[in-house]
Amino acid sequence: MIVALILIALGACYFFYKYPVLRSTWYWPASKGFAALMYHHIGTITNPQDEQFPFTITPLMFEKQLLFLKQNGYSIIHEKDLLHARQTGHTHFDKPVLLTFDDGYADNYTVLFPLLQKYQAPALIFLVTDKIGTPGYLTWPQVREMQASGLVSFGSHTCSHQRLRSLSDEHIMHELTHSKQVLEEQLKSSVVSFCYPFGSGGFDPRVRPLVFKAGYALDFSTKKGINPWPWQGKKSILRAFPRGGETLWDYHLQLTRGRSKL
Ligand SMILES: [Zn+2]
Repeated sequence: MIVALILIALGACYFFYKYPVLRSTWYWPASKGFAALMYHHIGTITNPQDEQFPFTITPLMFEKQLLFLKQNGYSIIHEKDLLHARQTGHTHFDKPVLLTFDDGYADNYTVLFPLLQKYQAPALIFLVTDKIGTPGYLTWPQVREMQASGLVSFGSHTCSHQRLRSLSDEHIMHELTHSKQVLEEQLKSSVVSFCYPFGSGGFDPRVRPLVFKAGYALDFSTKKGINPWPWQGKKSILRAFPRGGETLWDYHLQLTRGRSKL
């Protein structure tokens, strides 16, 4: 009897390992709410061994994802729609989705921006101010051109992309306020969104209040999940993380479960 149970358990482990679908979240109940998606690169890294592979969605797959959103009744919202919802409690959008891009990589201009224009899809890009204009990252003219399109808005991802929980209050405030000031000077408009590097500090009772003290209204974590809608901003925003190599089935799970893999 015990031997039979052990064999059944081993068999279950084998199937769990062998068939990835068993390791996905399809059997979780779907969450209705507001999905913020966390992207990094849109590009052509297709080698799974490359460390940037999970952070890179191919242009073809990204286009498929935009079509999936449009064909399945999702509303791709702009940062200002989220701010408006937070301030007024209005929930005009069905199945709201916000596309966010961390770190401000150069491909966000060369590859992503033409696709956003093609589908008239808004997006929010988080910039690390010390990196702007350095190799591999967006330049100020590119940032301004995207801003002028009305499709892309920009938030702060600090000055130097450090783990905020490891810094002193004073150092954190500098990362928060100086990056905001630099962005606002260059963009000639207010910057209301903040994204925690490595997700560090998003749920920390010391760090998070400093983000609001610095003048931000919206804060984005790296914790996976779907946010309640109407959204009150009591907690930092959860984000689903579509990874390189995933399918549209994964994408559906990301949008409805907040993650596709267990
Ligand atoms: Zn980052």
